[in-house]
Amino acid sequence: MQKIAVIGAGTMGNGIAHVFAQYGFQVHLVDLRGEQLEKALATISKNLDRQVQKGTLPAEEKSNILGRIRPVQVIRDGVREAGLIIEAATENEAIKMQIFRELDELALPEAILASNTSSISITRIAAVTSRPQQVIGMHFMNPVPLMKLVEVINGYATKPTVTEKIIELSVQLGKTPCVVNDYPGFISNRILMPMINEAILSLQEGVASVEAIDTVMKLGMAHPMGPLQLADFIGLDVCLAILKVLQEGFGNPKYAPATLLVNMVAAGNLGVKSGGGFYNYRSGLKELVVSEKFRTAH
Ligand code: NAD
Repeated sequence: MQKIAVIGAGTMGNGIAHVFAQYGFQVHLVDLRGEQLEKALATISKNLDRQVQKGTLPAEEKSNILGRIRPVQVIRDGVREAGLIIEAATENEAIKMQIFRELDELALPEAILASNTSSISITRIAAVTSRPQQVIGMHFMNPVPLMKLVEVINGYATKPTVTEKIIELSVQLGKTPCVVNDYPGFISNRILMPMINEAILSLQEGVASVEAIDTVMKLGMAHPMGPLQLADFIGLDVCLAILKVLQEGFGNPKYAPATLLVNMVAAGNLGVKSGGGFYNYRSGLKELVVSEKFRTAH
């Protein structure tokens, strides 16, 4: 279990690779897109610098940690020796199914196949493999190096010893695991996404401005970040994908995504990762500036 692989080097993949490497694991970080791998390594390096500046990591550790992460573009080369493979690719069921079919063929017979999915059924993903008892949800939170929770999701067929192993590993990474069962959105996003959607609906209906909505939730409910800023951090495309899973999975229109969210994703305004969402991130993350679009809307 000292060798692991992470599939997908986006917002979550880089953080997952960072944390495993920090705790001594050899990590293969796999992405189809070379530029995503470069971006991921640059982000990990910047985040390690931040830890060094804060005094939570000895400076000499940085190069050791980076040295344990190997970027790989071909899945076959990245997963062969791994005892645990964590899929953190795009939140799309067809993409995940294809990856799990490949992983099932390529991985060691004893390897555990985990998904970092925010909402997609672990049971359905597991069913495309010949080892559903070794498939599990290992749902890290964003930003992974800072957030303590790992939501551990048992699929219908997940073996108790596999769940135990993932709990043990999460603790080893300094995290707190919480075990839940496989229902759409699990616990985290079943509760979080309707709140984010309601914040977007409130903006769409002109009830309040971006700043007012986020301030109410920050100061009134002691949330560290308002729901619109949080949506930008998660990625508006990811939020939309999760809401669609909830809407379809429960067959309940209360989960229908706000039209404003659908439109922003169609327009490519995905939040932090695209440079703009409800806020504008083009000048960096230090100062929170509301997007021009919403400055004039109210
Ligand atoms: P992202 O869009 O930032 O990154 C996804 C990456 O997957 C991209 O780099 C893409 O090139 C890569 N990819 C797509 N298909 C691939 C394939 N076949 N092989 C290898 N790489 C492939 O997405 P993200 O926000 O990092 O989300 C990843 C997963 O984590 C999703 O399932 C998402 O629901 C979940 N998640 C996201 C958050 C969040 O806050 N963003 C939090 C928890 C969980």
